Amino acid sequence: MPRKPRVQSRHSRSGTGSTASPSGASGSTPRRAGPARRSEPPIFWQCQSCGAPVEPQFGTGIDSWCPSCQAVGTVAGMEGQYPSPPLYGAWAARQARRKEQEQTQAELTDLVQLHHSLTKQEQIMKRTKTHTGTFHCPTCFSEVELVNEESLKCDKCKGPLAQGSLDEIWADDDDEED
Ligand SMILES: [Zn+2]
Ligand SMILES: [Zn+2]
Repeated sequence: MPRKPRVQSRHSRSGTGSTASPSGASGSTPRRAGPARRSEPPIFWQCQSCGAPVEPQFGTGIDSWCPSCQAVGTVAGMEGQYPSPPLYGAWAARQARRKEQEQTQAELTDLVQLHHSLTKQEQIMKRTKTHTGTFHCPTCFSEVELVNEESLKCDKCKGPLAQGSLDEIWADDDDEED
């Protein structure tokens, strides 16, 4: 069975075309799709060091650079598939794990910050809860000077203390009774 050199001529059809076309005669003729690149399977570029997929703009071979691991000269390509799928799998697993870790870390940071702000609020509330100044008991008419006192209770009758000195109260009472 005589072999036809068809397979070979298919690739270099435009270059060594038998029928001499008027090359260069008319610039308006649309360029024929020479090597049928579109029908070829896409090339998948991958860093052979870390397994990350690498965009073709990062180069290939010696002049390549991997944006994932910053390695130089590690990018290789293969038609239709990554040169090393297991390497890609390992890389993808690492990425997923790192993402998870980052998320956990972020959640942890949020929690810590929340705790901090809550503690701060608590401290502020505690601080504002204490009472300093002149207070009096409206039940037994005793006057007390408080400094950072938390409870507003009369020592004698355990009743609630009111702000202000007794003098002010007497003055008010006088006004009301008049
Ligand atoms: Zn890499
Ligand atoms: Zn009292």
